[in-house]
Amino acid sequence: MAGVTWVYDFSEGSKDQKDLLGGKGANLAEMTNLGLPVPPGFTITTDACRHYLEHGGTPPELGDQVSEHLTALEKAMGKTLGDPADPLLVSVRSGAAASMPGMMETVLNVGLNDDSVQGLAGQSGSERFAWDSYRRLIQMFGKTVQGIDGELFDDALDAVKEEQGTESDLDLDADHLRDVVDRFRAIVREHTGRDFPQDPREQMDLAINAVFDSWNSERAILYRRRERIPGDAGTAVNVVAMVFGNLGMDSGTGVAFTRDPGSGEQGVYGDYLQNAQGEDVVAGIRNTVPLPDLESIDKGAYDELMGIMSRLESHYRDLCDIEFTVERNKLWMLQTRVGKRTAGAAFRIATQLVDEGLIDMDEAVRRVTGDQLAQLMFPRFVSGGDAQQLTQGMNASPGAAVGKAVFSSEEAVRWADRGEKVVLVRRETNPDDLSGMIAAEGVLTSRGGKTSHAAVVARGMGKTCVCGAEELQVDTKAKRFTAPDGTVVEEGDVVSIDGSTGKVWLGEVPVEPSSVVRYFEGELDPESGDADDLVRSVHRILTHADQVRRLDVRTNADTPADSARARRFGARGIGLCRTEHMFLGDRRQLVEKLILADGDDERQAALDALEPLQKQDFLEIFEAMDGLPVTVRLLDPPLHEFLPDLTELSVRVAVAEERGEPDEGNLRLLAAVRGMHESNPMLGLRGVRLGLVVPGLFAMQVRAIAEAACERKRAGGDPRPEIMIPLVGAVQELEAIREEAERVLAEVCEECGIDVRPLIGTMIEVPRAALTAGEIAEHAEFFSFGTNDLTQMTWGFSRDDVEAAFFHQYLDKGIFGISPFESLDRDGVGRLVRIGAESGRAARPDLKLGVCGEHGGDPDSVHFFHEVGLDYVSCSPFRVPVARLEAGRAALGAERAGS
Ligand code: PEP
Ligand code: MG
Repeated sequence: MAGVTWVYDFSEGSKDQKDLLGGKGANLAEMTNLGLPVPPGFTITTDACRHYLEHGGTPPELGDQVSEHLTALEKAMGKTLGDPADPLLVSVRSGAAASMPGMMETVLNVGLNDDSVQGLAGQSGSERFAWDSYRRLIQMFGKTVQGIDGELFDDALDAVKEEQGTESDLDLDADHLRDVVDRFRAIVREHTGRDFPQDPREQMDLAINAVFDSWNSERAILYRRRERIPGDAGTAVNVVAMVFGNLGMDSGTGVAFTRDPGSGEQGVYGDYLQNAQGEDVVAGIRNTVPLPDLESIDKGAYDELMGIMSRLESHYRDLCDIEFTVERNKLWMLQTRVGKRTAGAAFRIATQLVDEGLIDMDEAVRRVTGDQLAQLMFPRFVSGGDAQQLTQGMNASPGAAVGKAVFSSEEAVRWADRGEKVVLVRRETNPDDLSGMIAAEGVLTSRGGKTSHAAVVARGMGKTCVCGAEELQVDTKAKRFTAPDGTVVEEGDVVSIDGSTGKVWLGEVPVEPSSVVRYFEGELDPESGDADDLVRSVHRILTHADQVRRLDVRTNADTPADSARARRFGARGIGLCRTEHMFLGDRRQLVEKLILADGDDERQAALDALEPLQKQDFLEIFEAMDGLPVTVRLLDPPLHEFLPDLTELSVRVAVAEERGEPDEGNLRLLAAVRGMHESNPMLGLRGVRLGLVVPGLFAMQVRAIAEAACERKRAGGDPRPEIMIPLVGAVQELEAIREEAERVLAEVCEECGIDVRPLIGTMIEVPRAALTAGEIAEHAEFFSFGTNDLTQMTWGFSRDDVEAAFFHQYLDKGIFGISPFESLDRDGVGRLVRIGAESGRAARPDLKLGVCGEHGGDPDSVHFFHEVGLDYVSCSPFRVPVARLEAGRAALGAERAGS
C-alpha cells in the first residue's frame, strides 16, 4: 500500500471527511482551519484502523508517518514527547464516523514517566499537578491498554484517601499522589509481569493500537449492531497536544451549546468546572457552575468563547455543542459537533435558522424527523402541580400515564375490567404479563433497559413505559414499592409516569393534550396568537414537506370517525378499510347463521341480512372521504374468529347436557367450531381463500360497496371506492374473484342506472404473490403491499406468538436492530416488495402501488417505499403527519436519522 496517507495533520482535513477522519478528527480539522485555538495534533485515519483489524497489525508505513507528524507537533509546541526536563504530553482519543458515545477508549497524559513527571512538576510549578497527571495516565493506560481491571486502581486510590481521612481527590497532596503512583505501578507490575512502560513513544503506539482494538470490544460491537453502524467502518485516532484544565483556579474545563438543546432558545448554555479535567465533569465529583458564571471568573476566556460559539453556529448552520478547556486563562477548543436536541427544539431551531437566513426550507425539512414529530404528538404532563416525584427511570416508551398502582397482570386486567385506570408495576415483565400490559395505562419496571421485555412490548403497543427505575424496591408479593426517600406506594395508590422523561410521581399529575395534535385537529390556527412557536414551526415544516413530497399519504381506517380524523391530519384517502370489525357486535349472530346455514337459501338469507348493514358502513365512510379514494378490503380473517371460543362453548354444552337440557343450537355451533378449528389460523382458511370457499360472501361485500357508491352519487357525492382482495398467492385466485366482482358491479350499475367502476386490486402479502407479481398484475389495477403479513410469512413467525415471547432477547443479542414489524426489513421483506413492484409495473405500467402494513407510518420504511417508487403509503391516523413529513424528507434526500 505504498503511497497511502495514513495520518493527517489537523490543518489538512475538513468537516466533510468524517468517514476518513472520524467525527472528532474532521471537526478538529475544521476548527483548526477556521483559525480557532485548537491544540495542535494529527489524526490517524479509519483506513489505518481497518488495515489493523484486517491484518492484525498496523500498516508498515504508519510508524514513520506518525513520527513525521509527531516531529511537526513537537516543533509547533516547542517541546519533545516525554522530555525529562519539559515534556510534551499528548492525549490519544478515539473518534469514529458515527457517534458512539463512551464505546471506545481515550488515554490522556501520554508521555509521562518516572523522569518526565519531575520535568512537568518543574515547568508547571506544581508537584501535585504532575503526580496527579501521572497517576491518571497509569490508571487509564493500565485499564485501557493493558486490560487491567479498573476497580483495582479505584480501590487503591480509595485506600489512600481513606488513610488520609478524606473522600475528595483534592485533599490529596503531592506526596499522597506519589504514594498512589507507587501503588498503581505495583498493580501494573503484578498484572502484566513488567514495569509500567517508560518509553513515551511506546506508550503512544500502544495507546493507538488499544484504540483500534476498542473498535471490536464487546460493548462497541453490540452498540453498532443495535444502531446499525457498519461493523467494518473502523475508528480514527486523534493524537492531540495536552492542555490542562487542572493547573489551578485560573484553569478549568467545560461544555457549551450554542442554543438551548431543550427548548431551542438562543442564549448561553453549558457548564464550567474550575481546576478540573474533562473526566471530572463527567464523573460529577464536584459541582459545575452555569456557563454564564465564567464571565466573572475569566472574562477574557468567556468573551473569546462567545465569539467562537457564534462563529461556529453560522459556520455549521446549526446548533453546535462544544468541549473546551481553559489553561491558565488561555482558551482551548477540544471538540465541537452538531449537537443533539429535544424534539421540540429540533423544530424550533430549524425554522429559526431559516428566519436567520442560514438554511432554506428544504434544509429545515431535512433537519427534523418523523420520530421527533411523533414525540410531540403525545399528551404531556403539565409541569408544576404538587405531586411528589419519586424517582426517574429510563424513558422507554413515550406518553403520559396516570393510574392506580397494581403489581400483577391479573390485577391489572381485573381492575381495568371494572373501569379503573391502572399502572402495572413489576420488577420486570415477561410474556405472561401481556394481558396486564394491554389493560394498563402504562408500565413501570425497576429492572431492565431500553430493550427489556417491558420496553420492547410497550413501544410496539404504543403504551407508555418507564423501565429500569432501579431506585424503586418493588415487592410484588406484598403489592407495594418503596421509593428512595422511604415513601411506600401500595396497591391502589395513584402514580403518574412519564415515558418521555422517565419521571415517576406519587399522585395524579395533570395531563394536557399536545398543542401539535390540537393543531392537526384544526383546533389551533397556526397563524393565530394562540399558537406557540412550536406549532408554527411544525406547520411551516409540514406545509413544505407536503409541497416537495412525491409519495401520497393515505390512512388505515374503518370507521367514519377515524376517516374524518385522518383527513384532518392530512390523509388523502383510505389505503386500507378493514371490514372485519363490521362483522362483530350484534352482527356476530348473522355470521353464525351464515356459517351454520343449511343449504343455499339459509346462507343467502344470512348474507341478505348482512348486506344493508355493510352498505350503511360504506356510505358513512365514503361520505367522510368524499372525493378521495377508499380502498375497501374484502373480509380477511378466518370465520371462526367470529364464533364463540371452543373451550367456552364446550363447557356450555357439557353443562347443559349434564343438566339434561341439551341445546340443539349450541351443539351445532360446537360441531362447526370444532370443524373450523385451525392450528395456525394465520396460514389457514382466510383472505381470498374464504372468498372462494364461502359462496356469496365476497359478492355480498362487493354489492354493498357498489350500492353505497351509487347512493352517494345520487346524493351528489363523489365516492371513489377501490376493491381489494386479501392474501392472494396465485393469479388464478384473483381471476376467479375478479370475475365475480365484475359481474356484481355490472348488476348493481344496471339496477341503479349509475356507473360506478371501482378499481379492483390485490394485497401483496404472501411471498408467492410478490414473486409472481407480473402475472398477478395482469388482473389487478393496483397492488397494496401488506407488509405485516409479508413480514410474518417471510420470516416464518407469527407476530402474536413471537413478539412478546423472545423479541427482546433478539434485540438484546443484537440479532435485530429493531423489530421487523416496526421497521421494514429491507434486505428480506423489502427485497420482495421491490420484486413485486418492479415486476408488477413491468406487466402493467399504470399499476397503482401502495403499502398498508404498519410500516407505512414508520419513518425509515417510508424512505424505502419512496425509493422503490410506490405511489402512496397508508398508515393509522396518528401516523399520517409522520408519514407526510418523512415522505417530504425522502424526496429531499434526507438521511433518516436527521440531526
Ligand atoms: C398486512 O398484512 O400488512 C395488512 C395490512 O393486513 P392485516 O394487518 O390486516 O393482516
Ligand atoms: Mg394482512
